[in-house]
Amino acid sequence: MRYKLFALLLLLAPAVMAEGLPDLGEASQAELPLQMEKRIGESIMQDIRLHEASYMDDPEISAYINRLGLRLVSQSSSAHQDFEFFVLKDATLNAFAMPGGYIGVHTGLILAAQSESELASVLAHEISHVTQHHLARQLSTQSQAQLPMLLSMAVAILAARSHSDLSAGAMMAGQAAGIQQQLNYSRDFEREADRLGLQLLERAGFDVRGMAAFFERLQKFGRLYDNNAPGYLRTHPLTTERIADMENRIRLMPYRQVPDSLDFQLVRAKLRAEEGTPADAVAEFAAQVKERKFTSEIATRYGLAFALWRAKDYAGAQREVDELRRQKASSAMIEGFAAQLCLSRNDPAAALAILRSALLRFPQERSLAYAQVEALLAQGQAQQALAAAADDLQMYPSDAHMHGLQAKTYAALGKRLLQHRAQAEVYVLQGQLLPAIEQLQLAQKAGDGDFYEHSTVDSRLRELKLLQAKEAKEAKDGKQQTP
Ligand SMILES: [Zn+2]
Repeated sequence: MRYKLFALLLLLAPAVMAEGLPDLGEASQAELPLQMEKRIGESIMQDIRLHEASYMDDPEISAYINRLGLRLVSQSSSAHQDFEFFVLKDATLNAFAMPGGYIGVHTGLILAAQSESELASVLAHEISHVTQHHLARQLSTQSQAQLPMLLSMAVAILAARSHSDLSAGAMMAGQAAGIQQQLNYSRDFEREADRLGLQLLERAGFDVRGMAAFFERLQKFGRLYDNNAPGYLRTHPLTTERIADMENRIRLMPYRQVPDSLDFQLVRAKLRAEEGTPADAVAEFAAQVKERKFTSEIATRYGLAFALWRAKDYAGAQREVDELRRQKASSAMIEGFAAQLCLSRNDPAAALAILRSALLRFPQERSLAYAQVEALLAQGQAQQALAAAADDLQMYPSDAHMHGLQAKTYAALGKRLLQHRAQAEVYVLQGQLLPAIEQLQLAQKAGDGDFYEHSTVDSRLRELKLLQAKEAKEAKDGKQQTP
């Protein structure tokens, strides 16, 4: 049995407060300060990245959902605030906002949206929960007496999850549902998120009718499933009144027809092509192409190519890529796929040629930058791979994935000190200080490296040990204040 992530997140928040943040009393009296919110969110996000099996570490999908989300954020009065959007592979219809601007979207919701404006409307609603600090305001209404109980339950749930103890899990899920009930957003917060979300949607140039249409479909879907309602309905109770309210506002706004972006179609095609067995995926997309049952031929052929690649029919996948080229399809996702296909066919030189020209057209596309380093390594050009990674890290110094590729490249070159040094940065960026310290200790003992390299390892190790001591002390202080 899998817990509703949202319940877990809400439960985790007090645990984090008690771990790293000194005074629970103040937190429950006043609204959570922004900094505290950010820290709670960061800490939950780290946990999701490391332990949540459904977390999608797909740079293309992540780039898309962040572009869409940030387009909406840029229209809000909190455009300066940091936001991060991420996707969970989960068929239920859900999206949720965590403290600190982290917004999660289930793949089920992306696939259920019939237009990009519909998907944007849910993001806009969630963004508004964040900009209005609804979660923090809701948490701060919890009485002091409830916080220790929430804390102990969060610990129990985490323990049950990591040991997959099913009986304890089932019991906890029942209690978690009860507590989540108390933590659900109030009707006022929902109405406020609807109203502000609609404004964001309008200002960002989407079709505002998408919001009422999608929410109405979500509600119908909920009725169909009755008490087993999909997650989004449980955390955001939809009422006829809310939908009517939205429809009234929309009536006053100008009509606008907004076409979906190609990326929206490609992301959906990729998610579908990844579902089920490769043979099923091929059959589904082949039928759509044959019967011309699609809104975007390019996205459908891309889906077919992807499914064929999964089925290891590389020649068939290449035929679809050739057809996409004939139709002059222009997208970083298509170029990335074409390069991946060349690598699968053991032709790294062709992959590199595709990636080099794609990076000129889409210089900010992270997935292409990663693929270039991988392709150089596959071709045995480790020095060039190292140069490409170093160039890239100048621009994106906090990109954990690229630090990981750098470590892989050093390993290919047999440079052990530098390999562990780069791997340490991956852990630092993931918020895992102890494994980072271990890597630096391995670097010290690696038996290679010059004087300068050793001294940078030594000084980085000192820094991290200080940081670790500080965090350990804060955790201890926090625990002492918890009854
Ligand atoms: Zn809501």
